[in-house]
Amino acid sequence: MESGGISLPSGSDGVKRKVSYFYDPEVGNYYYGQGHPMKPHRIRMTHALLAHYGLLQHMQVLKPAPAKDRDLCKFHADDYVAFLRGITPEAQQDQLRQLKRFNVGEDCPVFDGLYSFCQTYAGGSVGGAVKLNHGVCDIAINWAGGLHHAKKCEASGFCYVNDIVLAILELLKAHERVLYVDIDIHHGDGVEEAFYTTDRVMTVSFHKFGDYFPGTGDIRDIGYGKGKHYSLNVPLDDGIDDESYMSLFKPIVGKVMEVFRPGAVVLQCGADSLSGDRLGCFNLSIKGHAECVKYMRSFNVPLLLLGGGGYTIRNVARCWCYETGVALGMELEDKMPQHEYYEYFGPDYTLHVAPSNMENKNFRDLLDDIRSKLLNNLSKLQHAPSVPFQERPPDTELHERDEDQDDKDERWGPDSDTEFGDYSNPVPGRVKREYVEVERNDSAPAVVPMAVDEPSIKDEHDNSKNLSDQWLR
Ligand SMILES: [Zn+2]
Repeated sequence: MESGGISLPSGSDGVKRKVSYFYDPEVGNYYYGQGHPMKPHRIRMTHALLAHYGLLQHMQVLKPAPAKDRDLCKFHADDYVAFLRGITPEAQQDQLRQLKRFNVGEDCPVFDGLYSFCQTYAGGSVGGAVKLNHGVCDIAINWAGGLHHAKKCEASGFCYVNDIVLAILELLKAHERVLYVDIDIHHGDGVEEAFYTTDRVMTVSFHKFGDYFPGTGDIRDIGYGKGKHYSLNVPLDDGIDDESYMSLFKPIVGKVMEVFRPGAVVLQCGADSLSGDRLGCFNLSIKGHAECVKYMRSFNVPLLLLGGGGYTIRNVARCWCYETGVALGMELEDKMPQHEYYEYFGPDYTLHVAPSNMENKNFRDLLDDIRSKLLNNLSKLQHAPSVPFQERPPDTELHERDEDQDDKDERWGPDSDTEFGDYSNPVPGRVKREYVEVERNDSAPAVVPMAVDEPSIKDEHDNSKNLSDQWLR
């Protein structure tokens, strides 16, 4: 298959890739609260597995520089960012109106260090985009990122800031077109919404659809205006297995790569689509899930791998460890090495786990129908739209440290507070039915400012309540 896009410095041998991996040792300490299914500890478990499988020495290991207010405000509203920065568990009682307004409190609770947590996971994703833009690596990984539900002015589905939108905006400084692929079991609504009216970002989401959070992601939602046919939704049902999943993933994503020819790809690797997930209802094996990573990697286009959902945390760690191996082109032994979280992986202590025997409700004719509808939509897509680059906007300056050299007291270099370039352009945002424009061709500037309207439609509250009910019971 034609790979499209730009070639990587590592060449097309299909084996080696230069990988930059972002990890903050603090991230595992953030705690959403008792009984909450989202556990940042899973990122630390993943890291421990990577270390004991001997993968760290094959990658550049970086501690992300925390994203600053102004970085977050490139997508999010100023008052929302100010709220996230200021809110504390103690101050909650005095801010009930604000909590409601920004949808913070239930699925998205206030916890100690909430803002630092946001800065850390966003810093890793934007930092990864910067590394890719500079050609420092072929693949950048931030398992703490991938929080795809966050909106411009609102938290949603355990997500507060949308690190994916921020990373894509960074990639758009160096690439005419960026592809976003989402294999979390939930619809990638926040990212789709942000880029719903542009042809410079194509979003493709594979998700459970029908009476399921967040409720969006209908196959008929295809984008709007210039963005028409640049949003793709693949609605799936319970129990989908590796074979059924691949029967859609490869033909659809392969066609997208051929016609859209992205300069960079962002893959959200939400692990709640794995078999046996606490909140999910799919039946993918880790190898099946990782096949998506392998496939995206095969195109030899700069690739940003992000985390996302994943609530059976031992399987999340297994999955992202195995996928890091895939990124590096290394096959990992099934027998797990001894490490500090070894007891989580009993009784088998293996990297892989067998999928269940649950019923696959995705019948053949249904899958065939979905595939032909989406391929038909893709046939209407104009080949590789382009935007002239007059001047490349300045990169976001994030100064992460190499873990090997990490010294907490000297975390910041003397230039770490360097001013950013002029970003006086409007904050890129958008929201469904109040769209933002990412500029394209003609008189389009190289930067990607988008006109922003104030959000007026909020329809996800009911669904988020359903989710609360589901896990708080
Ligand atoms: Zn999810």
